[in-house]
Order: sequence, then C-alpha cells, then structure tokens
Amino acid sequence: MRASKECPFCPGNEEMTPRALAVYREDGVFADGETRIRGWWARCIPNMYPAVVQSPAAPTPEWVAVPARGGHEVIIESPDHESSPATFDYETAIRMISVYADRYRYHVEHGSSYVSIFKNWGREAGASLSHTHTQLIALPLVPPLVMREISSISSMPACPYCTIAERESSSERLIFREGEWVCIAPFYSQTPYEMWILPFKHISNLLELNDSMLVGLGRALKEALRRLSALLNDPPYNYMLFQMGSNYHLNIRIQPAITRIAGFEKNTGIYINPVPPEQAASELRSVS
Ligand SMILES: [Zn+2]
Ligand SMILES: [Zn+2]
Repeated sequence: MRASKECPFCPGNEEMTPRALAVYREDGVFADGETRIRGWWARCIPNMYPAVVQSPAAPTPEWVAVPARGGHEVIIESPDHESSPATFDYETAIRMISVYADRYRYHVEHGSSYVSIFKNWGREAGASLSHTHTQLIALPLVPPLVMREISSISSMPACPYCTIAERESSSERLIFREGEWVCIAPFYSQTPYEMWILPFKHISNLLELNDSMLVGLGRALKEALRRLSALLNDPPYNYMLFQMGSNYHLNIRIQPAITRIAGFEKNTGIYINPVPPEQAASELRSVS
C-alpha cells in the first residue's frame, strides 16, 4: 500500500478529514464516531467545500432561484495513494461500483431528486487532490440537462439508448464488449476519445443492477480507463454517471479533458472535436 504523509485521503490521516458518513470494511459498513475507523477499503466523507448543504441561506428574492440544498460527499475508492480506476484490480473497481450504488440508494431514500456522481481525474480536469476520489452531489431538483434529455426521450417511440447499445455494438465506433455492457465512442463525441459505457438491458439506475451486471460494470469501467490511460499516457478526464429513478437508461460518459472549452463552445453549445469517434474507437480498440 503506497501512502503519503500529507494526504488527507491516505490511511493513517483519517483525522485530517471530517467524520466519515460511511466506512467500507471487510466486516461491514460503519460511520465514524469520536475515533476514526481504520482498516477500510473505501471511505465516504462530507466535502470540505460543499456546493450544496443541508440548511442553505435563502436565495435572493430578486430573481427566481432554488436554495442550494443537498448533500456533497467525497468517496475515496481506495486507500492506495498511487492508484486510480485505470490501475485498480477488478475487485477494487467492482467494489467502487457497489459503493456508488450504496450512496446513491442513501440519497434517493432521503428524498433527493437527482444524484450526480462524477470523477475528476487530474488537475486539468478539476481534481484538487491527487489521491483517487469520486464526488457525489445530491440535488433537490432534476438538472436542466437531464430534464431536456428526458423530455426528448419521452417523445420518441423507443428508448434511444437501447438502439445505440444494440447498433453501436457492431459499428466501427465499438471499443469493446464486456458481458452485458458495451463501450463505444459515441457518434456525437464532444471531446476527443470520449467513451460511453451502456448496458444492453434497459435499466434506469445502479440499484437495478444484479450481481453479474455490477461485476460487469466494474470491469468495463476499469477496462475503458486502462485503455485511455495506456493510449494517452494517463490524461486528465471526467466521468459522469447518468441515471434516474425510473424510465431511463443508465449510462456512463468518460470525457478526457485534453481540449479547452472556450469561446466558440460557450457561444454556441457546439463542440469542436478534432478526433473523429471512428478513429478514437479504432485506436482504443488496438490498445493491448
Ligand atoms: Zn493519499
Ligand atoms: Zn433503453
């Protein structure tokens, strides 16, 4: 186990963080009390600089606004200071998905309307600490991006993600298949080497995964990031889980942060991507 003396996410430095909301160990799931729990394989703590809080100040009455109410957590997926999902063994990657599902369940059961789970890897992608971690922000509303998508899906005769998973699994944008999952370079990639991971089965969220699908997702996510890391020498990236309580098709989007979102993108919402997805898929397929 590789550790750093200064890193608040490393084992031995648990006192440097707020009390953990959930500590995952071989013998069960616990919450920190007076003394911090050691011997964990994953740990979920409140974010020190939360974007949303349980009792926010009232927003300005001048404009229509929603109080920034919610929960903001950090999931430390591994005690190893030098590891990341690209280098995790399969067991760690699979456990990470089960922690995501566990925290997702908690916030859904406590009334959140949307639970955003995302990872920023590398400083250029927004990570302020180098020790691998995922963020979770539980919201009192469904974000506009997702609302627009759902309203557009509801006007279609069939789920577009079911069609994408099926069609792209034999297209030149296929990267790999892993059991009940497919990893593709989407036709409308916003960034070079963008990857999507989708289940063939129409399931809305992580809570609908059975055991074999959960294992498959852990393996698929690790494999996608391993290939990206090998091809582009461990680039910064973001990945985001898209899921809803019902009537949705779970998907995970990985976007390397290797191009700048600049004036044109902000002016138009159109993304300039110099690497066609067919080329990206071909290169990612050929990583051994
Ligand atoms: Zn560390
Ligand atoms: Zn579907």
